Amino acid sequence: MTRFDPSKIMSLNQLDQAEWDLLCDGCGICCLYKVMSPSGMKPRLTRVACRYLNLDTCTCEVYNQRHDRMPTCIELTVENIKQLTWLPETCAYRRIAEGKPLPWWHPLRSGKRDLVHQLGISVKGIAVNEKDIDLNDLQKYSLLPW
Ligand code: SF4
Ligand code: SF4
Repeated sequence: MTRFDPSKIMSLNQLDQAEWDLLCDGCGICCLYKVMSPSGMKPRLTRVACRYLNLDTCTCEVYNQRHDRMPTCIELTVENIKQLTWLPETCAYRRIAEGKPLPWWHPLRSGKRDLVHQLGISVKGIAVNEKDIDLNDLQKYSLLPW
């Protein structure tokens, strides 16, 4: 299946693998490093991206081997989605899990995969590659929650 009707998505449970993959808007936010907040209670996003995130397209360069190549790469699942509190409110998986519709700019509604970048929702133009920084300085790259 290459396209399905996003208005009919009621639950993540109903998606097959192809539909699950299509739901990602390509923002790249889940590929950012996280640091613990000062309280130590909540992970906070940084603008430092995994070494395998292509910063131009915000796509994974090793997608099919991602969990082998990057052991800390988190797999989103129906079971863990609500625990990943750092996911942006725009994330389609989070929205569906919370019973919310996809935003108008989502590729499945707009038919345009570039809107997520043009509207400044993705990490494009913001993220730096982990290879270009000292990871001991991660705190310096902390972002407020998205
Ligand atoms: S945060 Fe959600 S929508 Fe954005 S890249 Fe990750 S899984 Fe896809
Ligand atoms: S391996 Fe790929 S999907 Fe996983 S965090 Fe890195 S860039 Fe993202």
